[in-house]
Amino acid sequence: MASLFSKYEGIASALGSVVAAGGRNPFSVIIEKPVSSTVGVIEGRETLLFGTNNYLGLSQSPRAIKAAQDAAAACGVGTTGSRIANGTQSLHRQLEGQIARFFGRRDAMVFSTGYQANLGMISALAGKDDYLILDADSHASIYDGSRLSAAQVIRFRHNDPDDLYKRIRRLDAPDRAKLIVVEGIYSMTGNVAPVAEFVAVKKETGSYLLVDEAHSFGVLGDNGRGAAEAAGVEQDVDFVVGTFSKSLGTVGGYCVSDHPELELLRLNCRPYMFTASLPPEIIAATTAALEDMQAHPELRTQLMDNAARLHAGFVKIGLNASKQVSPVIAVTLETEEQAIPMWNYLLDLGVYVNLSLPPATPDSRPLLRCSVMATHTAQQIDKAVEIFRQAATKAGVHGAR
Ligand code: PMP
Repeated sequence: MASLFSKYEGIASALGSVVAAGGRNPFSVIIEKPVSSTVGVIEGRETLLFGTNNYLGLSQSPRAIKAAQDAAAACGVGTTGSRIANGTQSLHRQLEGQIARFFGRRDAMVFSTGYQANLGMISALAGKDDYLILDADSHASIYDGSRLSAAQVIRFRHNDPDDLYKRIRRLDAPDRAKLIVVEGIYSMTGNVAPVAEFVAVKKETGSYLLVDEAHSFGVLGDNGRGAAEAAGVEQDVDFVVGTFSKSLGTVGGYCVSDHPELELLRLNCRPYMFTASLPPEIIAATTAALEDMQAHPELRTQLMDNAARLHAGFVKIGLNASKQVSPVIAVTLETEEQAIPMWNYLLDLGVYVNLSLPPATPDSRPLLRCSVMATHTAQQIDKAVEIFRQAATKAGVHGAR
């Protein structure tokens, strides 16, 4: 009998090699107990968390926790239905109003995850006669959205507006709609998109632009509205997609837009229509976390100061850190023989980061993805840098000092 699992043999052997090289399965680390936003118990030890997406520390917001408790008590713990059936409560519409107002946009759609927001928006917007034009380093949810759509998909070189322009010009299809998709901050490298340049291409070529601000929402811009706000071009972005699962510390996704047709997408967007809506406690916690974020702009300043401190620390000890300073800092290594043991040493010594291996990395080299929080203290950052120095030396990383 043909096996359904023969295609997994490659994965099993690759995983076996990773475990053999370092002793652990890096893809099944368990945080036994979150102690605070910056510390969790892993393997029975308190470990510094430098590999989450909890940029503002709001997963532990006392106001959000209280709001979740109150909402569960008042409304129950789930909706048992999708947004277009029985799954829309007043709380959902209130959150959509709050998000739309925050972005200064006409309307917002709230999805059950950020993954579904990309899946839903991209597949519902781009039909078989349209072009979808994606940054080559796009997140899986963007690629999966393009698979779910029937559109013709074109990729352009990562963060390269000239390449984007050339590829659109080459299409020579003025009568077909074109949707460009980019991210505000790229999740693996921390690269920030040149959104103003992408807007210029969009205007020049008569395209639409969708920006996924998953990692830049709450992080970039004077009000935390993301990379488009920081670049001063918000009004030229047609669709902003984002998630609650990073800066707001909860779960869920959204899309905001001024296009009145957004209302119609609610009836043609499968990942919105055919899944249960977010439970009341999550909606209430998200509302509270967004209020927290707006009330505490100093969190963003602290976050950027902390990012600069960690980045400078890595440069000082000779590591190959991301070029741009953002809350996502990648330390790129030459080989898996260095990266896997180094990731294990870091955990032995009390620092958790994300190990990312090719082909999941942008330039076929392994990297240690580190992320910073506003709630990290200077001492925690300095301690992490010292542990990185020790782990890099032990792993024989070239240039580490
Ligand atoms: N877009 C990007 C760029 C992401 O990095 C992620 C999550 N890693 C998502 C979308 C999906 O967000 P969520 O976790 O809310 O599903």
